[in-house]
Order: sequence, then structure tokens, then C-alpha cells
Amino acid sequence: MNDFEYSRAGDVEGALRLAAGSEAQFIAGGTNLLDLMKCGVTQPQRLIDITQVTALARIHELENGGIRIGALARNSDTAEHPLIRGRYPLLSRALLSGASPQLRNMATAGGNLMQRTRCPYFFDVAFSECNKRRPGSGCAALKGFTRNHAILGASASCIAVNPSDMSVALVALDAVVQVRSAHGSRHMPLADFQRLPGDTPHLDTHLAPGEIIVAVDLPANRWQKNSVYLKVRDRASFAFALVSVAAALEVQDGVIHDARLVLGGVAHKPWPVADAASMLRGQRPSGDLFRQIADGALRAAVPHKDNAFKVELGKRAIVRALSLASSSEAA
Ligand code: SF4
Repeated sequence: MNDFEYSRAGDVEGALRLAAGSEAQFIAGGTNLLDLMKCGVTQPQRLIDITQVTALARIHELENGGIRIGALARNSDTAEHPLIRGRYPLLSRALLSGASPQLRNMATAGGNLMQRTRCPYFFDVAFSECNKRRPGSGCAALKGFTRNHAILGASASCIAVNPSDMSVALVALDAVVQVRSAHGSRHMPLADFQRLPGDTPHLDTHLAPGEIIVAVDLPANRWQKNSVYLKVRDRASFAFALVSVAAALEVQDGVIHDARLVLGGVAHKPWPVADAASMLRGQRPSGDLFRQIADGALRAAVPHKDNAFKVELGKRAIVRALSLASSSEAA
């Protein structure tokens, strides 16, 4: 690990002041950043500890009926919060499917959105080729073991996947990210916050230098009864998704009125199935319809040497998640 300067901020303004004009990084739970520093993947010159900015740990209702999750809310606290369990059970389930209890006790909402890929060639600096770690160096994964890599939205520069379960649920719930900088505030849908790799895989998000995530807002919704987070993985706990599905339906009198369907574990960011809502609206749940949606969702998939299984796995996971969601069973 490299030497670095360490400072502690007491509020957001102080954190932004401390970070001004330097290549500083903010640290909260540290569950990803410290691993990256220990591996030598990330070598920050300055760390700004924001764990004392307690105002960012709140979860509270908004006047518009939605909910604001502070950037420093711990994953375990968010998953168990009565407002989240009652109104956004999809998010609670996604959070509880991620990592381990110890990690969830440390990890924060903001950190979860900023976590980096677990591509093994990215994490191991012995591999000289990684466009995400060393822009322009190549991609070792393309010549390596690709079982866990992307099948949608990848590029010739990078085939890594985003590891976040929380992000998949948040995109399905139409979450909006609130950010601050010395120049003011702005917000953007989470669906637009994370990037596909394209020619610039070293950029994971659209967060600009000097900006800090302060909260994630969730609008009011009617998905409580018919929403499911289904995660398929190699172990029952402490494993990243091979494929995951966030499925949310609004069902009245046996007819689907609205829907959201988002995939995880298959792309560089959560992958919304754009046609799902229009195909499901006005329809009664049926296995044939769900299979048709699943086939369409994976039609553009481009598997690599070791992960062709993800295509059929993704289709079956979609059918299963939509079936569970439409019958109100939880996954
Ligand atoms: Fe690096 Fe992306 Fe290739 Fe992995 S897939 S080695 S993160 S460029």
C-alpha cells in the first residue's frame, strides 16, 4: 500500500474543501477501497474520511411520498429499516443477498454505487493488461477465464461486470442519485449514473471530479406486493451474482398494469430490459409471455469462451423471477 495523507471531515462542505484541488478520494465503510489499496490497484494520495458526517446516514421520508437514503446509511441498517422493508422490500432483499453480515454492517449506500468490478485481472496487478486499471494496456480477460464476465453491453476494451446487487434493485425502483460539489448540487437517475465500458472502461460512473454522493432518492411506488430479487450464484452466501433479476409488477385483478425488469451480473452496469414494461402492461401473467420477454432480453447477448451458460441461465432466471413476482411469493 502506498503512503497517503488522511483527513477527517465533519460535514459535506468540509469534505469538499478538503478534497479541493487534489486527487483525493472519499472513504466511508472502506469495504472496497481498502481492498483496492492493499492490492495496489488504487493508490490515492489523500483520503478524506467522511464517516463523521452523520447527517448523511439518515433514511427518511420526502414530502413527495418517496424516501431519501443518505449516502452513509449502512447496508444492514437500510435493509432492516421499517420504511425500506415496508415500501421497498425489493431493495431490502437485494441488500440482504449481497456480501456477508459483517460487510453489510460496514458498507454504505454511496460506496455500494461506487464499488468497482471484481474482474480478477483488474484486482491482480501481476496482469499488465487491464484497460480499466491501466488505460490502453489491453484486456487480459479476453484471453483468460471469462465465466463471470459480461454478456451484454461489453466492448472490445472491457468485458467486466458491475458487482452491486443494490444497484440492480435501485434501478428497478427508479432511484435518483443526489450529488454535491463546490459548485452546487445536481441529481441523475441511477440508470444513467453508471457507465458501459465503451472505449473508456477506466470510468465507472458519471460522477465528476470533486463531486460526492450525498443521497439516493426513491420515488413512491406500488411494487411492494409483487416484487422479487432473484440472485443466482455459486454459493448461498458471500458470492457475487452469476445472474440476478429485479422484477417488480403492479397487478390488479389478475392484470399487470406496470412492470420493471432489470438484470445484474451480465453487464458493466445494471441492465434494464427496456421492452418488458410495454410487453407486460395489460396482460395476465403467463409462462409463455415471460419466456417471450426472457428471449427478447437476451437476444443481443454476446457470450465469451466460458460464459455461454449465462444466456440460458438469464432467461430462466427472468421467467422464474416474473413468475414469483406475479404470484406474490418472495425470492
Ligand atoms: Fe480489465 Fe475489464 Fe479486461 Fe477485466 S474485463 S481485465 S477489468 S479491461
